[in-house]
Amino acid sequence: MTTPQLRLYNTLTRSKEVFVPIDEKNVRMYVCGPTVYDFAHIGNARPVIVFDVLYRLLRHLYGKDHVKYVRNITDVDDKINARAAERGISIRDLTEGTNRIFQEDVKALGCLEPDVQPRATEHIAEMIAIMQKLIEAGHAYAAEGHVLFAVPSMADYGRLSRRPLDEMIAGARVEVAPYKRSDMDFVLWKPSRDNEPGWDSPWGRGRPGWHIECSAMSWKHLGETFDIHGGGIDLVFPHHENEIAQSRCAFGHDVMANVWMHNGFLQVEGEKMSKSLGNFVTINELLHTDKFGGRSWPGEVLRLAMLKTHYRQPIDWTVKALEEAEKTIKEWRRLLRGASRSNAKPSENFIAALSDDLNTHAAVTEIHKLAVASKSPSGEPYDRQTEMVGCLEIIGFDEFLKELPDQDDVTSDIRKSISEVGAPKAGIDLKKAGQLITARLEARKAKNFAESDRIRDDLLAMGIQLKDAKDPVTGELTTTWEVKR
Ligand SMILES: [Zn+2]
Repeated sequence: MTTPQLRLYNTLTRSKEVFVPIDEKNVRMYVCGPTVYDFAHIGNARPVIVFDVLYRLLRHLYGKDHVKYVRNITDVDDKINARAAERGISIRDLTEGTNRIFQEDVKALGCLEPDVQPRATEHIAEMIAIMQKLIEAGHAYAAEGHVLFAVPSMADYGRLSRRPLDEMIAGARVEVAPYKRSDMDFVLWKPSRDNEPGWDSPWGRGRPGWHIECSAMSWKHLGETFDIHGGGIDLVFPHHENEIAQSRCAFGHDVMANVWMHNGFLQVEGEKMSKSLGNFVTINELLHTDKFGGRSWPGEVLRLAMLKTHYRQPIDWTVKALEEAEKTIKEWRRLLRGASRSNAKPSENFIAALSDDLNTHAAVTEIHKLAVASKSPSGEPYDRQTEMVGCLEIIGFDEFLKELPDQDDVTSDIRKSISEVGAPKAGIDLKKAGQLITARLEARKAKNFAESDRIRDDLLAMGIQLKDAKDPVTGELTTTWEVKR
């Protein structure tokens, strides 16, 4: 088998390029992480899931020990100060609590932990070192307790976002301040009042601006230049533009990262997500409350719904899309009953799809094809199952695979479904119900309709109503059920 070349869309060049790592024994990726002042919303989940899939693909292509993924935690920010004051708690309590929930949320979405999750507050020394380099080289200056980056000192500032200067000024919501030499100059360091978090520096007690944090953490953990830098499309300007300005001017390289990748926007039911529209939804609410669509959703459903759209396309987050993702997963669970995880190997078509700028949409379609093939009488179901498992590992369905029903325990997934519709509350014996449903399915397949009807009546007497249907994917007869009140 020939490994297909990995091609990635680079925002810097506006084109899809063959990915060539600086050192294939140490492939390095940095992704901007959360500012931990509030619950992460579902738009924040998109880059976390997208770059988790890229991380897994890189590990598959270059080997687990040859990829380093860094995603930072921004734990110093004016939004954090304001929120802690509002809630009357310490900054440390707010950032610790918020970060703990973020880690639980993204774990439930099936994301691996990055190799390093550096915290901004633990990299103040690196930030000061970069600022000193910039001042020495004439790219930054200190004024009234601030340190500012001198934008006109960099000839090709704006190479990533490619915006005209006046648009950049508007986009950066530039603050006009007397200590600035140019309106475009941005803050690297600012003075802190006594009641604000602050660190000693050559320019007095103060705290960092947001952009310098990522330049410092990526330098510390990945070096002066590295392979991939990722984040949401909204970070291109000013955040990533300014990261590039700081790192390139401090270290004197032509690039900070070779490839800049950005995921598209997420909207909810056709509208921009906003607190004022009332459609603002957090990962935590989706997982644990009935706020979206009147019910909670398993992490694997949220993950699949996200991956069905290519990462650069805008995504419309809808209840219908989640229901469809759930149906697909149910079908995969049924088809993979008894599948083994040993010797799992993804199909070539699947790897080719992911290698084409992380085309998860095409990759999920390939898994469907394997699912259908595993049911075809002429196919080799064992091989197709093994390939499906291999594919699902790479798009991050580890937990799903761990919970696959055993071959001989044909009732386990049926029991799971019944318990989901409230059987325990209705006092139904799940084991017995599962056995009866399985027996009836077998009777139907054998066209023993008298037996099938008899069992149906027994189940009805227990309070379980059956509904027969044809599976839309495989055309196979299936049974769904609900608990009668
Ligand atoms: Zn960043």
